[in-house]
Amino acid sequence: MIHASAVRVEPASWQNLLASSITDPRTLLHRLQLDPQLLEGTLAAAQDFALRVPEPYLSRIRPGDINDPLLRQVLPLGIELDEQPGYVADPLGEQHSNARPGIIHKYHGRLLLVVSAGCAVNCRYCFRRHFPYQDNSLSTAEWDAALDYIRQDDSISEVIYSGGDPLAANDRRLAWLTREIAAIPHVRRLRIHTRLPIVIPQRITPELIDALCGTRLPVTMVWHCNHAAELDELTRDAANRLRQAGVTLLNQAVLLRGVNDTLSAQIALSEALGDSGVLPYYLHLLDRVRGASHFLVPDYQAQELVGRLLTRLPGYLVPRLVRETAGEPAKVPVSVTLVHDL
Ligand code: SF4
Repeated sequence: MIHASAVRVEPASWQNLLASSITDPRTLLHRLQLDPQLLEGTLAAAQDFALRVPEPYLSRIRPGDINDPLLRQVLPLGIELDEQPGYVADPLGEQHSNARPGIIHKYHGRLLLVVSAGCAVNCRYCFRRHFPYQDNSLSTAEWDAALDYIRQDDSISEVIYSGGDPLAANDRRLAWLTREIAAIPHVRRLRIHTRLPIVIPQRITPELIDALCGTRLPVTMVWHCNHAAELDELTRDAANRLRQAGVTLLNQAVLLRGVNDTLSAQIALSEALGDSGVLPYYLHLLDRVRGASHFLVPDYQAQELVGRLLTRLPGYLVPRLVRETAGEPAKVPVSVTLVHDL
């Protein structure tokens, strides 16, 4: 007989956590003790854009609270299906910048590689919620062609791993890709846009760090965290390990009604990021994607909010307020309104 204390419970691997994510609206409502009357709308909205929530993220949501800021980001609602003028499938016109399968080339000097079609969480406000990922899942030959595109354009000094979430790809794929890109002399930097360290911090393994940091390329990782309650001991550990490996850590957030549209929420987010060694980089105005209109914060409120933030925090903890507009050669900075109410 084995004594109970002799049984060692292995922590769940990130792959198991990813595979066991909640995708059934009934399970989500049950686990979070939410009103069963939500089910009809939740099922309908999840048909349009699937529900996906991994366990480590779920564990930070307060049961029974329909207004929980983390829940609001992931819970499909019937309201998403209401047509709203000005809200479209591809608000950033990315399908025109989809230079070839797997590549989105919008701005001078850098391009996005769609490394993985999948995400670990499906965010209801995502501007790529209708993106044709099926046309951007690459065969080996297509990967070679995508790399050739980079090889042949010596204006490209930075490659950005994007998705979906690029860290949903396995370490072998990421290590191979990073080596291939590092072998292109004109590429000087690697950037990774990811939400995985927030929703499954266990993804930051030594093997992943080796895969990303094992070449000559300096690595910047841009997290996507929208609320202080998304950060905990595990995310802080993940940030520490990345910083020890020399990775520069930044954060981009989206300004979302009912999630982070108050001064206290933005201060708490910036402070919690600062505690983790992650610098706030961008605060994005909502991209007007079909299904996300209920998250909109009007421009004047956003401008005043960031103006107030400037009076409360050191400048390096205040993100730049930006809007992304189809066809523009860069993200457009949005002016802020300074408020004298200290
Ligand atoms: S993780 Fe990023 S790409 Fe994936 S659904 Fe959320 S916002 Fe969209």
